[in-house]
Order: sequence, then C-alpha cells, then structure tokens
Amino acid sequence: MIKVTLPDGTVKEMAQGVTPMDVAKNISEGLARNVISASYNGTTIETTTTLTTDGTLILYTFNDKEGKKAFWHSTSHVMAQVLEEMFPGIKLTLGPAIDNGFYYDVDFGDKRITDADFKKIEDRVLEISREKHEFRMRPVSKAEALEIYKNNEYKTELISNLEDGTITFCDHSNFFDLCRGGHIPNTGIIKAMKILSVAGAYWRGDEKNKQLTRVYGISFPKQKDLTDYLELLEEAKRRDHRKLGKELDLFYFSPKVGQGLPLWLPKGAALRDRLEQFLKKAQKKAGYEQVVTPHIGMKDLYVTSGHYAKYGADSFQPIHTPAEGEEFLLKPMNCPHHCEIYNARPWSYKDLPKRYAEFGTVYRYEQSGELHGLTRVRGFTQDDAHIFCTPDQLDAEFKNVIDLVLYVFGSLGFENFTAQVSVRDLENPDKYIGNVENWEKAENAIISAAKDKGLNYVIESGEAAFYGPKLDFMVKDALGRSWQLGTIQVDYNLPERFELSYKGADDKSHRPVMIHRAPFGSMERFIAILLEHTAGNFPIWLMPEQAIILPLSEKYENYAKKVLDLLENHEIRALVDNRNETIGKKIREAEMKKYPFMLIVGEEEDKNGTISVRQRGQEGKGNISVTIEKFNAMINEEIDKTLKQF
Ligand SMILES: [Zn+2]
Ligand SMILES: [Zn+2]
Repeated sequence: MIKVTLPDGTVKEMAQGVTPMDVAKNISEGLARNVISASYNGTTIETTTTLTTDGTLILYTFNDKEGKKAFWHSTSHVMAQVLEEMFPGIKLTLGPAIDNGFYYDVDFGDKRITDADFKKIEDRVLEISREKHEFRMRPVSKAEALEIYKNNEYKTELISNLEDGTITFCDHSNFFDLCRGGHIPNTGIIKAMKILSVAGAYWRGDEKNKQLTRVYGISFPKQKDLTDYLELLEEAKRRDHRKLGKELDLFYFSPKVGQGLPLWLPKGAALRDRLEQFLKKAQKKAGYEQVVTPHIGMKDLYVTSGHYAKYGADSFQPIHTPAEGEEFLLKPMNCPHHCEIYNARPWSYKDLPKRYAEFGTVYRYEQSGELHGLTRVRGFTQDDAHIFCTPDQLDAEFKNVIDLVLYVFGSLGFENFTAQVSVRDLENPDKYIGNVENWEKAENAIISAAKDKGLNYVIESGEAAFYGPKLDFMVKDALGRSWQLGTIQVDYNLPERFELSYKGADDKSHRPVMIHRAPFGSMERFIAILLEHTAGNFPIWLMPEQAIILPLSEKYENYAKKVLDLLENHEIRALVDNRNETIGKKIREAEMKKYPFMLIVGEEEDKNGTISVRQRGQEGKGNISVTIEKFNAMINEEIDKTLKQF
C-alpha cells in the first residue's frame, strides 16, 4: 500500500501501482470524468502513470492552468500527426503548450502551408480526436531514438542532449513523437480545434539558425468555449493598441528613425504628460524628489553596476568618442545614475530615506522579431524611482510604495489584480548576496506590508532575484488577460557595488538598502495596456481633450467660441470642430476619437445659453440640454468617480 496525499490534506491508502485516474475514480466518478492530467510530488505525469511511492497528488481539469497545458500540448500531437499526413516529408521539431493554446515548429522543406489548408487540418484533427486514441508513453533507448530520427536534424539535436534511459516517446493512433509527457487520457475530449496563425520562427529562437514555420492552434473540450475564445480574440483585435494608437493619433513608428523607437504625436505626448503629472503629484505628496540624469553613461558605470557583465554582449554596443578613447553606453537602467546621485554627498541616518524619482528614458536592444507595438520597444521611459533607506525603514517604505501603486491602479480603472511575493529558496542560500538577517527583515517587511494592505497575494519561494526579494502586481484587463505591472524590488547588491553609505546613530558607517519601484513599469507599455483595457475610452481626468464643441453650422461659431472660453475658465479641456462638414460626420469622427463629451450648439442653445451634451457610452439616452455651470458639475462628478486625492 502507498499513501497518496491530496491537496486538501486527505491521505488515501491505495494499492501500489494505482494510477491518478484510479484515485480520481476512488474520489468520485464525476471527478474522474473531468480529470485530464496530474502531477505527483511536483512532477507532471500522465493520468495513467502508475504510482509506486508515497506522495502528493494533484488532479487537474481543464479549468486548471496545468490541465489546459496538457490539453493543448496533447492537441499539438494530433495536429503534428495531421501535418505529417498532409505534407509528407516535413520535419517536426517542438510542439509545446503556451498561455493560450499551443504551437508546433515545423520545417516544411519545399512545401508551404497556407490559410486555405487550415480548415482541412482542423477537420482532420477532430476526426482523429473522435476516434478516442489513448496517449501512451514508452521508453526508448538513445541509440534507437537517434536511428528513428536520423533524417530529422532537429530531433537528433534534442535527443543528443538527453541522457540515455530518460528518453520517451508518446504514442497515439499511428503517430509517435519524442516527448517528455504531460498528456490528457485520450483524444476523445478534444471537441473543438482551430488553427490561429502561422509565423516564422528560428530553430531554438536563434536568428543564426534556420527559419521554421510555427503553426499556432488552440483547442477546447466544448465548441462553445472555442466560439467565446474567438469572440474575445476579435475584441482584442478591435482594441489592439497599435490600431487604436493610429486612430487616436497617439504615436507612430518611422522606419527612418528605427524599429522599436516610438515617436509620440502631439495627442500621445499630451496623454503621457497627463500621466506623468498625475504620478508626479502623488509622488510629491509621498516625499519623492525629482532628479534628471543623462541618456548615456560611461561604460565603467555599468561595469560597476554589473549590468555590463550580465547584459553587455546582447545589448547596444558602446559609443566611442572621436578622441580620448572614451566609451559610453546608452542607459539601459536608471539605477546606477541614481546611486551616483546618492553618492554626491555624505548622509546621516537622520536624512534617510531619500527617494529619487525620474521619468528616465532607457534603451535596450531587442531583436527585431521580438518588437511589438509599444509593449516591446528599444527605447522607453520608466516611471522610475529609487528609495535609499535604513533596514529598519524598509517596512514603512514598502507600505508607502504599495499605497502609491494601489492609488495608480484605482485611478486608472484596474480593479482586478493579484500580488506575488518572491522570496529566497531557503535550500540554496548560496545563490543570494547580502546577509541572512537583512533578507529576513526584507521578506518579512514585504509579506507584512502585503498582508496589512489587504492584498490578494501568493508567496513564491525561489523567485527572488539574487540581490533581493520583490513584490509584483499582476493586473487583469477588461478581456481577462494578465499583465505584470508595478514591481517593487529590494536590492542589497547595488548599494554594495556603489559603496553607498550613511552614518548610523552609532556614528559608524552603514549600507543603506535600496528599493527599485515603477508603478507603470514604462510609459510605453503602460499606455499600450491602458489602451487595450479601456479600448481608448480613458478616464475623463486623463483625456487630453475632455470635450469637443460641435456648432450645427458656421452661424454658431461665435457661440461655440464663447462656450470654449467658459469651459476654459472651469479648467475643462475642450476644442471646437468648426470645419465645414455635416454635423453627422463630425459626430461620427468625434465618436471614433473617443471624446468623453460632445457639446452640440445651435440656435436653441445660443438663445438659452446652454449646450446639448452627448456623453460617451450614453449615446442611447439622447442628448441633455444643460448650462455650462451644470456641465461643469457633471464632469467633475464623473472625474471624482475615478480620481481620488492621494
Ligand atoms: Zn507530448
Ligand atoms: Zn532600478
């Protein structure tokens, strides 16, 4: 007999050699119907793997991340089978599950897959699935595996890196593939499947290697799930920040300026500026001081910080001066500059904490294939700040930073988020620098701050950086997608490397602790996420232009101008559209530009000193006729709903 422990703590005495599926059946038939994958003692196994030792068993359904992974990876086997059937002679490489679906990287040789093939592939995948083929793992010797794949240089490379005795194939139907495992019981539960796209991908992600074709797909246990997912994808396309950025005239990429280097158009620049002012105002209240540092720094600065050793080779290369043999690097991080600001004078413990903030633009080399709109760029501006404090101040500083991050999220409509506390791996203390006492202090400070602030958080052991523990915020957007925003990181490393110090109450020299934090992360990425989250309908307080005045004809232009002046007196940001166009066209365009309010003025309004208000999102309700005073109250009420005082 073996003892199988379940996640809720229940221990089941089972016969040696039972499978996870047997355990599921032992619990309930209903559960057994839904279980599609399992892990034992932290290792992913098949639902048919026999259990021979005591251990902890987790059973997964499609609702679990692990369950989806097994489901999607298994579907990639079936898709690979169909691709081989339809394109004989192709070479299969790797087919993992990803966050949403799976892909298979294939060397199609002289063959080509096109959109026209998708439907045929999908139909055949479902046909095979309906035959309910079991997925079965089988061990294969290294020599045999190499022989079987002797015409496939990719699999040969993979097998060469594996140890003899650990190599397994997965069989289903008449198909086999080199695979480590992690499958659903049989193909029968794959009820819906769609090929999403094909793209080029280098073997092993290295652009020196051959380019393969990556076939992306997704599958579900119900047709309805696929329909919902495809609708979500359509909505995501409508909200794509690259599309909205163009429609709203926010930013532009010029091939002449260079890939991954966004140009901010006037409206985009105004939006950025509003976000910056918003954060600066809150930061001022929180005791931050603004600093400004240059866009380049001596190479030695980054040798000292350790960034050069770690990232130098894969980054923009040094800039050489004409004479004197000086070498500069484009700034990849603001931290080293801020450390040197701290070093500009001696400090006493009474002066701390020092909080230096900068909207600092940094440059990082990204391969051109990795670039994506504003979310992956080569030059971006961080809403960066570094707090230098004593170890005893960490607790309070951390709480202050959390308050600031929560304020930012709340004001911008991100209500759904979780936090992750990354701490040391206690079994590998050598991986970390700094003394144990300080680490404990920092980890406890983060955990108690997270608890005190009522955050929904998880603690991840072994996820800390070598230089300190951290807290990350994962935000869910309106489409249910998760984004990492807002990192707060403790650092013992840079104070050491830059020999930062302060004089303690004991009159001795001590090292301060450093906190890195950026609630937005970067302006570019944040604006991209905000665009997709709000579909461009930004909170009213953030809109560079809150209202557009639309005169019904040129007869009312003077009145429109008068309204504009009155609005300006109330600090409402507005503009007049006095182009010689029909009112219908003006309204349609104003809708596309997502102005929160359209103020229509004609004879009636001119006579009564009113405006006819059409509010974004309330179009069905018809316009309401109000005075400027009333409108001022209306807009302020809307703003107060989202923007609170910090
Ligand atoms: Zn597999
Ligand atoms: Zn930093």
